[in-house]
Amino acid sequence: MTPPGPTASPAIRVALPQLCDIDDLDRDRAIALLDRADAVHAVALGRAPALSSLAGRTVVNLFFENSTRTRTSFSLAARRLGAEVVDFHAHTSSAGKGESLLDTWATLRAMGCDAFVVRHADDHAVAELARQTRLCERPHSPIINAGSGRHAHPTQALLDALTIRQRKPDLASLTVAIIGDIRHSRVARSNLKLLQLLGVGELRVAAPPALHAEDLPAGVHRFERIEPALAGADVVMMLRLQRERMGAAQVADGSEYFRDWGLTTERLALAAADAIVMHPGPINREVEIASDVADGPQSVILAQVGNGVAVRMAVLEAVLGA
Ligand code: ASP
Repeated sequence: MTPPGPTASPAIRVALPQLCDIDDLDRDRAIALLDRADAVHAVALGRAPALSSLAGRTVVNLFFENSTRTRTSFSLAARRLGAEVVDFHAHTSSAGKGESLLDTWATLRAMGCDAFVVRHADDHAVAELARQTRLCERPHSPIINAGSGRHAHPTQALLDALTIRQRKPDLASLTVAIIGDIRHSRVARSNLKLLQLLGVGELRVAAPPALHAEDLPAGVHRFERIEPALAGADVVMMLRLQRERMGAAQVADGSEYFRDWGLTTERLALAAADAIVMHPGPINREVEIASDVADGPQSVILAQVGNGVAVRMAVLEAVLGA
């Protein structure tokens, strides 16, 4: 029997009112989103014709922080489902004149925008907007978190989980090490929640003491040196030093950081022989990762980027009830 392709598979298997955090998902919904992302993968990469499940709908990218991958992949995801996309630029908009996030949303909603993809520097701004919009509008217009402060980045976690599952489907047998600036990382927080929900065997975080976080889920193993965290790991996820969220005192010198914490070929040899190397991007070469590792045979960094489009297609369909 031929496996169902993206057009043959049921249009949607999961319905979500919003996606502000991994807490909006349960295990079945998370798996259904990953399955759907796999099913639309060829469309996501532009290797199969676009779908029409969101024809007539409009998706807004409402970004108050910089982005390359997330914004572009949400735009491509929406277009490859037949939706229209509006790109809102915070720095040239009335947000700069003091307009609140809720009033900005209401303005765009009044123009017929259906779904709102929101990135904000504040940890709770996106969840708060979702709460306020649920109180004041009919019909519902879903909010998707595209990165909120250091708190959450749920679609990044989904694309990371998809990338891992495609290469190492037996999640319960895996050791995943997340290494670098854990403290300021929404990617780490959302990944730890999702990977626990999906039943990954062992989760490790490693950071210098000043870049560790106290608010991580129970059961995560904590390391203060990179070498023991790498030992035998199946998945190595490196994080950028997120200087934009650090006080001056915390900013480490790049070459000193690389000496102690950079992922080099020699250090990677401590991990499992078939370990994969991940990074959410943007990468800072020779700071958290050596160029020959980032571009090497174990790196799946560009596969993560492609999977970002697929996962965001699945999420947009789910929140818009396609
Ligand atoms: N792109 C990711 C984020 O938006 C990771 C990073 O910026 O370092 O959180």
